[in-house]
Amino acid sequence: MTQVYNFSAGPAVLPRDVLLQAQQELLDWHGSGMSVMEMSHRGKEFMSIIHDAETDLRQLMGIPANYKVLFLQGGALSQFSMVPLNLLGDKTHIDVVNTGHWSKLAIKEARKFTEVNVVASSEDRQFSYVPDVASWKRSPDAAYLHYVSNETIGGVQFPFVPDSGETPLVCDMSSDILSRPVDVSRFGLIFAGAQKNIGPSGLTLVIVRDDLLGKLPAHMPTMFDYRVHADADSMYNTPPTYAIYIAGLVFKWLKQQGGVAGIHSRNEEKAGLLYHTIDNSHGFYHCPVDTANRSRMNVPFRLGSAELEASFLAEAEQRNLLQLKGHRSVGGMRASIYNAMPLEGVKALTSFMTDFARRHG
Ligand code: PMP
Repeated sequence: MTQVYNFSAGPAVLPRDVLLQAQQELLDWHGSGMSVMEMSHRGKEFMSIIHDAETDLRQLMGIPANYKVLFLQGGALSQFSMVPLNLLGDKTHIDVVNTGHWSKLAIKEARKFTEVNVVASSEDRQFSYVPDVASWKRSPDAAYLHYVSNETIGGVQFPFVPDSGETPLVCDMSSDILSRPVDVSRFGLIFAGAQKNIGPSGLTLVIVRDDLLGKLPAHMPTMFDYRVHADADSMYNTPPTYAIYIAGLVFKWLKQQGGVAGIHSRNEEKAGLLYHTIDNSHGFYHCPVDTANRSRMNVPFRLGSAELEASFLAEAEQRNLLQLKGHRSVGGMRASIYNAMPLEGVKALTSFMTDFARRHG
């Protein structure tokens, strides 16, 4: 099999060991004679799979007992509606920090249901930084404060967890969940699409403090109600069983990597190497993001001209360095280096980058 390094922003690379185990177990899970794909979600086999997945995730993230873990569908985008619908209660507005594409979309969607106060925005400089907290204009009595810990397209990552005081803090952690330690007790709700650091697409994770449940207006669809899913242990309807199984394998793999702290130091090493290569290229490569807010997961960079960028991508592909094209809305390059990207992949990329700069610089 060809060795490729896949720098896709998501769906993204999965740990090879996880895929090998899934392959081994594909036809016969633990002697059951069934594939996980064929199992009843209410059977004892699958019940043990989802139970283990939740237990391992709770351990990895240190999720306190008063938080529910929900395995849902609909992608992170459906959370842009579910969060305001479930958390607004009798409040009239929410606070949101606007640091890029996914913040903007969350704001647009929330405006269908509530007033949105944008506390700060980095749109003035093409979303290349996190606005200084001292400049944030929080509103009194907001239902919650929403932010995106890592803007997947812009490559801007919060280096801190904002202090929201008594106001519940909501975080779209889609592209950096499980990549670094976080204190879950600081949050009211965390959500993430699975297809970056968790597993295959089709699974959406929600971690929610239990006092925030039960506020969905009665006329809203039952499937949008966090409390319904929490009360049914994510089994109100058929959950995305195979994706949950793979996520469970990824959690076990993460534990073998030294947990979140262990993977975090590897992530720092990988990102450090890539940014070092960019910063030491004498301007051949350029990262548009302020140094303090550079993402450890998605590294955007530019070259001097569109022609050079096109030949960079073509040559990279020839060397099996795949999916390096930036998002269509911003152009340029983007290397996504999630938990499952091995250090060797980043080394292969950086040595190609150095070589390419030498030949074209
Ligand atoms: N938020 C962030 C930060 C994302 O990166 C993405 C997807 N790239 C989304 C939301 C949307 O997720 P989904 O496609 O799972 O709905």
